[in-house]
Amino acid sequence: MIINFFKHLHKINTHRFKVFVLCCKCGIPFRGLMHDLSKYSPIEFFEGVKYYTNGKHSPIIDCKKQNGYSKAWLHHKGRNKHHSEYWLDLAAPTKAPIIPFKYSVEMICDKIAASKTYNGKKYTNMSAYYYWNKNRDNEIMNRKIQGFITEVLELLGAYGEKKVLNKKYLLDIYNKHVKRKGN
Ligand SMILES: [Zn+2]
Repeated sequence: MIINFFKHLHKINTHRFKVFVLCCKCGIPFRGLMHDLSKYSPIEFFEGVKYYTNGKHSPIIDCKKQNGYSKAWLHHKGRNKHHSEYWLDLAAPTKAPIIPFKYSVEMICDKIAASKTYNGKKYTNMSAYYYWNKNRDNEIMNRKIQGFITEVLELLGAYGEKKVLNKKYLLDIYNKHVKRKGN
């Protein structure tokens, strides 16, 4: 228990640092600082310790398997705007609205950081794109934002972080998708 406490704490810190570095490259350092802070709250933190999984996958998955839901996740998604689930409202006219630029970019940084962690030495610039392509249909998200993320991760695979992860470049792609007609 006490070992998992420190392991889980370390996992959160390492993930937050990776996201912070990526957010700085993208010109949104403040989002990087704020990223996943709610993971230190007792409701999220102690569930993570209880279902600690050696970093192979998220403890939230194991908690959901056992209990049908995860209080940590419900708490997390309600407070963190970089999750598409934060913006979902099934009773609203637009169930999945357009997510503002900075949170969409923070979301991309989160996905890249997770890819780096889970792939370890096998990580390449394409890793995040492969993972996203396999799993994007599990995420209910505004189509324009989905298009934005897909294009950014594709370009990252082709050209690498130096070219793709900068604010002006990302903003151009974002605007192109958001201003597209239709939903
Ligand atoms: Zn998060």
